[in-house]
Amino acid sequence: MNIKIPAFLNIRNEANKRSDFKGIISKENFKRFPLDTVKSINTDAEVELSCTFDFTNKAIAKGTAKINVTSTCMRCMEDFTYDVIAEFTLSPVANEEQADALPQEYSPLLINEYGEVNIVEGVEEELIMNIALTPKHPNESCNPFLDQEEDFLEDEEVNQEQVTLENNPFSALSQLKGKLKK
Ligand SMILES: [Zn+2]
Repeated sequence: MNIKIPAFLNIRNEANKRSDFKGIISKENFKRFPLDTVKSINTDAEVELSCTFDFTNKAIAKGTAKINVTSTCMRCMEDFTYDVIAEFTLSPVANEEQADALPQEYSPLLINEYGEVNIVEGVEEELIMNIALTPKHPNESCNPFLDQEEDFLEDEEVNQEQVTLENNPFSALSQLKGKLKK
């Protein structure tokens, strides 16, 4: 998939044509990813956009974007790679009042003198908003070594109990009594 998403779009014109876009934004375009949480960007962003009008006749570009990054897990301090996925509704605005009037789930993008918005910056912003502040492995894959150690410790405790019982018949007896009393 090497088709590039246009860097600038007139969303209103594209909405009139009901245009759909599917392609990539190359990762070199993304300069504002937070370096303290993202160590590297590993892929270009895969982007899909559908330009249309909402029920109040606002021009919008509904879309998704996906990009693979590497972060350091805040739990085990090991690097791991994961997909950052953004779902968004971009809407062109001419000024701040128009931006404030948009539904909360819309992201306003300021139009330039040609009525176009900067799609690359808009998508970058959406991706950045979906980067975890404290990235962590999903639980099941985080530091399996630590989990094993916990299991090992539990086994040790059980083994020691058994050893005590075998070596000390009186303690075994008192344990048995304890059980009978209950
Ligand atoms: Zn981890």
